[in-house]
Amino acid sequence: VRVRPLTCTETRRGDQQVVHSLGDGAVHVSAARHDATFGFSAVFDAGASQEAVFEGSGMRQLVELATDGFPCTVFAFGQTGSGKTYTLMGPLAQSEAQPASPALLGLMQRSFSCLLEQSRSRGSELALSASYLEIYNEQVRDLLSPGPPCALPLRWSKTRGFYVENQLSVEFESLEAIVSLLLQGSQRRRTSAHALNRHSSRSHALLTIHIRSRAVSAHPAPGEGWGASACPSKQGTLCFVDLAGSERVKETGSSGELSVEANSINRSLLALGKSWRTRPGSPAGLHGSPVTSFVAPPPAGHCISLLAKPRGKRTHIPYRDSKLTRLLARSLGGSGITLMVACISPSSRCLSETLSTLHYASRARRVTTRP
Ligand code: ADP
Ligand code: MG
Repeated sequence: VRVRPLTCTETRRGDQQVVHSLGDGAVHVSAARHDATFGFSAVFDAGASQEAVFEGSGMRQLVELATDGFPCTVFAFGQTGSGKTYTLMGPLAQSEAQPASPALLGLMQRSFSCLLEQSRSRGSELALSASYLEIYNEQVRDLLSPGPPCALPLRWSKTRGFYVENQLSVEFESLEAIVSLLLQGSQRRRTSAHALNRHSSRSHALLTIHIRSRAVSAHPAPGEGWGASACPSKQGTLCFVDLAGSERVKETGSSGELSVEANSINRSLLALGKSWRTRPGSPAGLHGSPVTSFVAPPPAGHCISLLAKPRGKRTHIPYRDSKLTRLLARSLGGSGITLMVACISPSSRCLSETLSTLHYASRARRVTTRP
């Protein structure tokens, strides 16, 4: 869980800070009628640096697993303005081409550096390429291909699973190259919008790094792992997902375009929740014991509310329910490893969305996948 600092606007209008980190992965929410403590693997409060988030969230280990051939995913979720994009990319993505201070770089840039370091230390046996997509209104768009964004078809084949037809995948070997791809894509994501903020908060963005082990040695020494004939080429992925804002669009007044958007988001987030299975009997609380002293029922229709339901039930995994889950099928499947970063605002005005995000995160924490 990452709690962002109060913004200047929030401070100026006198918003109360209602979220506090208690240390040891505990986070406390206190307001007039609410008092709740939640436990997580890690909590980063307003003072936590980008580096602390990278090192303390397990992101480095995730990069290592991806280089070892696992499908790895990191999700940032939370309401609009809670710090998802900041956590993933730093403030870089919000201001025009202004070089951000290295200290503010997000999980993405830090992971790229880590990945390239590992690639070098393995003697450049890894071939790296990137693809960058967004899902807006259940349409998949390529953020790397030039020209106006157009919808690409999502297909399925026995050998490849779900894939996006004609999706661009760009090879890279340096940090500059991948950071420039990230910038290009994020800019395209923004400029394709009529209403700037609303668009980016109503779309999911997925940056995927494909990591293939190159067959460099045709005659590996006996017993050595990395040669072409000694071990089949591994293919890992590292996928960064900047999810659409999780706030509920008010039932009243959501009509026309807005309700189409809301339905698309609900559909994909709902499907995402349904595609995980929960391990029966594992409590959400700190160190294995439930410490939540206030548990509101999850708001009806909130996607992850479904997560808590199928306790022990083996249900068919409905990847086909949404484009997002289809694209993430490999990552969410048996050998996939996922890091979820719940972003919250500390402001009293965001209390109900904050509680909803924390409940969502508590449920997500109970999810395990089986190979
Ligand atoms: P989201 O992507 O969830 O809509 P943003 O990442 O755009 O939210 O963050 C909203 C605002 O808060 C931005 O101006 C961002 O720079 C600022 N912000 C978010 N997290 C932090 C943080 N940890 N430290 C400082 N500023 C932050
Ligand atoms: Mg954002």
